[in-house]
Amino acid sequence: MHAARDFRIRTYMLLGVSSAPVLLAFSIYDVIRGQYLFGGIIAAFALAIAANTAYIHRTGRVKIPFAVMNVVGLLTLAWGIQFVGHAAALWAYPLAIVNCFVSERRRARIMMAAGMLLLIPLVLLEAPMDHGVRFALTYPLTCWFSDLAVSILEKLQHQLNEFAIRDPLTGAYNRRCFDFRLDEAIEQSRRDLGAVSLISFDIDHFKAINDQFGHDAGDDVLVHLVRTVRARLRKVDALFRMGGEEFMVLCRGTTPQQAQHLAEALRREVMECRPRPDLPVTISLGVVQYDDRLGRAEGLRRVDQNLYAAKQTGRNTVWPPAESAESELPAA
Ligand code: GH3
Ligand code: MG
Ligand code: MG
Repeated sequence: MHAARDFRIRTYMLLGVSSAPVLLAFSIYDVIRGQYLFGGIIAAFALAIAANTAYIHRTGRVKIPFAVMNVVGLLTLAWGIQFVGHAAALWAYPLAIVNCFVSERRRARIMMAAGMLLLIPLVLLEAPMDHGVRFALTYPLTCWFSDLAVSILEKLQHQLNEFAIRDPLTGAYNRRCFDFRLDEAIEQSRRDLGAVSLISFDIDHFKAINDQFGHDAGDDVLVHLVRTVRARLRKVDALFRMGGEEFMVLCRGTTPQQAQHLAEALRREVMECRPRPDLPVTISLGVVQYDDRLGRAEGLRRVDQNLYAAKQTGRNTVWPPAESAESELPAA
């Protein structure tokens, strides 16, 4: 889920596709006008952009970081404004916009500030007063509008992402997110970044809670439960609502014993933290350590089986019980 970074890389590539031919054409124009050095620098810049764009297209990765392009671009402009003519400053506008779309926010702002500090005094010195003042006003405005547009886009993107991965009632992550996060955790465990454990839990007799206290009270129980469980989890653990009143905790870098203790702590916490004094809530939990030899589907089947076993043994309990989790957890 690196949507913002992927968006920046894709934008970097698209901007490369559109700007390389324009810059190359402009460099030819410069050479025809006798501006050999400036034309040569622009041509080299265009070729570097083209090579970098082809590399991104082929590998999905960036070869020349945009920060390097930006610094070279700004220095070339500073030189161009002094030795070719102040009209070279016009290139500062597209460069500022590209910078906003391609760079990470903080870096983009530092680059913009550097651009303003470098170019505005130069243009004021080199250009007629009238042009200089206009540049000193319009260049920061362009930077600011670009930054604003990208900030709004990023905020919208973040909101859309949240809608896609969270359950609207409780704010817990949803099943779609679980599928993605589990794959990611399995991938990490293969690279020896710690074991993965799963805790599946389900509210006991939730139907009776709905029947006795009403559906809205049932909703409040779900919200309260998520708040209680979340408060007990570590930063690396994640809570998912798998559907109805069934949840899953994905624990990374956790031994079976630790997962067992966590499950037991969650059971106790939920029992003790009632949403209302007259409304007792308990959960049953199944725990499993993910075993890559058995695979993903089997891991999920086993955790389900253990939850079922917890229900069978009388509810408000963890299966397997803590004592049997010394080395490896049994299947059910
Ligand atoms: P068990 O101890 O065996 O898990 O029994 P249970 O009553 O909890 O399980 P059952 O599957 O019989 O009932 C689940 C209930 O959860 C039925 C359904 O109406 C209720 N439910 C599912 N989603 C929601 C929800 O979003 N809000 C509310 N209030 N109730 C929900
Ligand atoms: Mg239930
Ligand atoms: Mg259920």
